[in-house]
Amino acid sequence: MVAPNANAGGDSGEGSTESVDDRWFLRCVNCGSGMRSLFVQYSPGNIRLMKCEHCKAVADPYIECEFMIILIDMILHKRKAYRHLLFNMLNLGAGDSKGILWKSSLLYFLLDACRFSLLKNSKACLDSSRSLLLSFLTCGKVMLNVLLGNFIFISVVLLGIRFLLNLSFDVSRYRQILLAILVSSYFKLYLVAMMVWEFPSSVFLVIDILVISSNALALGVVTELQTAGCLGVCFGAHAAKFFSDRWLLHLLSG
Ligand SMILES: [Zn+2]
Repeated sequence: MVAPNANAGGDSGEGSTESVDDRWFLRCVNCGSGMRSLFVQYSPGNIRLMKCEHCKAVADPYIECEFMIILIDMILHKRKAYRHLLFNMLNLGAGDSKGILWKSSLLYFLLDACRFSLLKNSKACLDSSRSLLLSFLTCGKVMLNVLLGNFIFISVVLLGIRFLLNLSFDVSRYRQILLAILVSSYFKLYLVAMMVWEFPSSVFLVIDILVISSNALALGVVTELQTAGCLGVCFGAHAAKFFSDRWLLHLLSG
């Protein structure tokens, strides 16, 4: 059973200008309303799930589900599963997500480096007979590409939600969005399998499409903005990253 922090959130009178929902970090997975707690524990293993005051449904039935069920629902792009993961498991609204942000950023960069290396391999750019110096230079190129590509990607996402979707500037909110984008890119984990087994190059395209749609869904869950707008921003960011990758590859090979 997944056990979210039932004590997250506060019941103080601070922030009286906010709506009641915004004071609590946990969310109802059905409607996105803030929840003071998701369950009441009477004794170990004996809990009662709370109902949402707005939609009158059980706020988070995923609490009693195994993670595999949650993962399957995420793969099926169910908004409820994303709300559960981002708000009720990772406590995205609590504002203390710096540790998760660094770890997920590192994993994201590593997976991107894997992707770039696989693409270069498919173009026969790597040669096992190369000298140590050339291998070192290749690693430098990969790191440069990953850093520049992701800088452009993140910049386009943040500018897109700031100006196209008209979301007000708030550092903690933008940090939540960044973490949601990183976590929702979990489809890139398939790249690890591609390093072990041979797959057709079209699998890259399938993974990219799944990552874009997953990013858009997570962005919509965190910002409560329209899915079409979020999809446009994510598609634009991935396109900008794609062209920067191609441009840098061309520049470095030249
Ligand atoms: Zn609800």
